[in-house]
Amino acid sequence: MTDPAAGRPRRRPTVSVDVGGVLVGSAHPIVVQSMTNTDTADPDSTAIQVARLAHAGSQLVRVTVNTEEAAAAVPEMVRKVRGLGVDVPIIGDFHYNGHLLLTRHPEAAAVLAKYRINPGNVGAKRHDENFQTIVRVAIDHDKPVRIGVNWGSLDQALLTELMDANARIPAPRDARDVMIEAMVESAVRSAELAEATGLRHDRIILSAKVSGVRDLVDVYRSLAPRTDLPLHLGLTEAGMGMKGIVGSTAGLALLLTDGIGDTIRVSLTPEPGAGRELEVEVAQQILQSLGLRSFLPQVSACPGCGRTTSTFFQEMARDIQTYLKDQMPVWRESYPGVEDLRVAVMGCVVNGPGESKHADIGISLPGTFEEPVAPVFIDGKLDRTLRGDAIVPEFLALLEGYVERRFGGVAAPSV
Ligand code: SF4
Repeated sequence: MTDPAAGRPRRRPTVSVDVGGVLVGSAHPIVVQSMTNTDTADPDSTAIQVARLAHAGSQLVRVTVNTEEAAAAVPEMVRKVRGLGVDVPIIGDFHYNGHLLLTRHPEAAAVLAKYRINPGNVGAKRHDENFQTIVRVAIDHDKPVRIGVNWGSLDQALLTELMDANARIPAPRDARDVMIEAMVESAVRSAELAEATGLRHDRIILSAKVSGVRDLVDVYRSLAPRTDLPLHLGLTEAGMGMKGIVGSTAGLALLLTDGIGDTIRVSLTPEPGAGRELEVEVAQQILQSLGLRSFLPQVSACPGCGRTTSTFFQEMARDIQTYLKDQMPVWRESYPGVEDLRVAVMGCVVNGPGESKHADIGISLPGTFEEPVAPVFIDGKLDRTLRGDAIVPEFLALLEGYVERRFGGVAAPSV
């Protein structure tokens, strides 16, 4: 499903859901979100992490609300976040006792922008009653909900019902197919129950997360045609480092190019003691790589080969990438559209000039045994040739001037 005009995936049509001022679904940009891992009962550390995630670009931030203490701390935590000058909508994640916490802590219910309900974790005996209690709180406070199914906590009564029905047919389907059906049914039936309870249709977002890439793709491809509600995508329990990044990218890219997905989260396990911002950066990079959104100027750099026997060009590519990232908080304000900038840093004459011409501004460094000169291309044309020890600062000055001229509407000084 491709939009021929824009050359990008066409989104499947959905209703639009307002989450604390951030619009999710319909033609609105795909929203990046994340989640804290601090103890919500500690309002200081949670507020700081929420602010860090928001500064990294997370447009929605979810916090665990799992105990009386956590629920009681939510209003103060939100006040602290606002005190830091951060207005990101904050979402409460509820399991098992959400019906109790939301009714006992109306101030928390009022300040949260959305409630996440897991229909597999609202209790077996009083499942519908507890689920409806949360939905009624959402109605009373005029909040949206995300009905978030997760295969690790799939509604066991529903799964058993579908497994039993499957066993009765002459040629039973594979257990995996029944599990996928149960995930989809849990999401769809829960949304129907929420609406039957009185929640508006445009107050519901759905998700159905699994930890396997193929399973994720199959679940969402089954779910998408069943609903016009916005879908939250994410590989649950994606894992650490490379494994989590590659798995999330593979799964999300397949779905996003199908036009499926209105908000995404990359659920990475952080390194011990590390922050959570990486998951936001990965989510942004996935969207930018697919041409769906722009967040940061992109640097095309060749991988290097036997023609680049020194680390000079690797260091230059890294320095430019770091420079661009460091400039963005200021550039974003001063130079609207700069996130679409394309920079090339190439290692030798083989592909260097060609790739550099395709970028807005590019440099082709000398490979081993080549003449020690570095042609710079701007808007596809050779602008000048740099030589000597100051190639990097000179190129950065040219880059800064280009950004000023193109995105600032101000004539840049000649360098
Ligand atoms: S541009 Fe040159 S250095 Fe870079 S990978 Fe190609 S041949 Fe190797």
